[in-house]
Amino acid sequence: MAADPKTSYQGRIHLLQKELMGRYYQELTAAARDGSPPAAYMLISGNPVELVRAFGMLPVYPEVNALQIAVKKQALPYILKAEELGYSVDNCAYVKADIGLYFSGRQAPFGTIPEPALILCNYVGCNVYLNWFEHLREYARAEVFFLDIPFVRDPMAPRPEDLAYVVAQLRELISVCERITGRPLDWEYLRHICALSAKTGQLWAQIKHLTKHVPCPLDAYFDAVTLMGPLYCLRGSEEGLRFFEEAYREVKERTELGLGPLPEERYRFVIEGPPPWPYLRVFRDLFSRWGAVAVASTYSTVGGLWEFGFAHDPDHPLESIAQHMLYWNLTNRDLLRRYQQIRRYVQEWGAHALVIHSVKSCRLFSAGQGDMREYFSRELGVPTLLVESDLEDPRYFSEAQMRNRIDAFFEALEHRRLVGAEARP
Ligand code: SF4
Repeated sequence: MAADPKTSYQGRIHLLQKELMGRYYQELTAAARDGSPPAAYMLISGNPVELVRAFGMLPVYPEVNALQIAVKKQALPYILKAEELGYSVDNCAYVKADIGLYFSGRQAPFGTIPEPALILCNYVGCNVYLNWFEHLREYARAEVFFLDIPFVRDPMAPRPEDLAYVVAQLRELISVCERITGRPLDWEYLRHICALSAKTGQLWAQIKHLTKHVPCPLDAYFDAVTLMGPLYCLRGSEEGLRFFEEAYREVKERTELGLGPLPEERYRFVIEGPPPWPYLRVFRDLFSRWGAVAVASTYSTVGGLWEFGFAHDPDHPLESIAQHMLYWNLTNRDLLRRYQQIRRYVQEWGAHALVIHSVKSCRLFSAGQGDMREYFSRELGVPTLLVESDLEDPRYFSEAQMRNRIDAFFEALEHRRLVGAEARP
């Protein structure tokens, strides 16, 4: 086993993302204080942020707030507050952390979250979204708008009738935003925002394709989350695009210099499922000590699947926003399509193994992962490890158990390598 290496990510983009996310939360805090600009609460998966930005509204993401609290290891008091209010232990922990935050004066450890002017539920994949945003509407008494997004029904592309159905709802949403902000939609500005999103998405996709290199220049799970904050909170803005130009430059440079996140890359793995945010570093180091680097992850596609060809189209803004919501994000797809996605990662990104992180409080991700494991290990012969904890709730993470499972898995891989039975990527 390799000596325990230092895995902290010290690149320019890490510092830049801290600065940008800090500024984003300062903006939220100022909006909470001044009541302006109006805040729109939205979900990450396949959202129409371009439209919200075109009205000068401030996008607020309860999922991002919840995970930031977890990263700071401060989730439990918020979760317990929600449980005191009657939320079950089995509820999605993101929901509980967010509801706990709402009833804590919206005071997060990193800023104050403004009251919503619009609660915009983009129902993409996860049905918890509906209840979560209905509850927020009850508590905040703000205007609510539910976008009904049909599940993907055609494996090749969204059906024309589904596209028309979503576009019609976006037109209704435009009227709602016009009423809330008191201004008409500036279509030129919307096109400009879509162009920014398109360029940002393409740079993100290029970065993801760079992780096919050996050594992998950026851990596509643990480091990718550094990029996901700006991708989601700043998509469609000039500063979001500048960040991705800088990120692409840095990852390209690392690729050319043959630098990876670890001193030695021994194993490349694909990982499925969200991270255990309160123990991100601990979890990471359980892999790093084996020289294992994540070359691709499904979690990094919850907000969009740009690496497989999607880009917003400034000439058809509403249609491309609808395409994104319907088709180009992980959570609106069925499990078999997730298998295909992972299979491509294993083959095209040259991985030795698949790691499945099963998350207790997120059924959207975790349902069916047992079958997924069988499919990859038995049918495709890909060594597959399944570990369990939670994305937010620190009560469900056992470091010792996790370490035993991961060590046993890599010992077996090491043995396969020694006897020459390793599946070549
Ligand atoms: S159940 Fe999973 S996908 Fe749904 S809101 Fe919770 S964390 Fe997100």
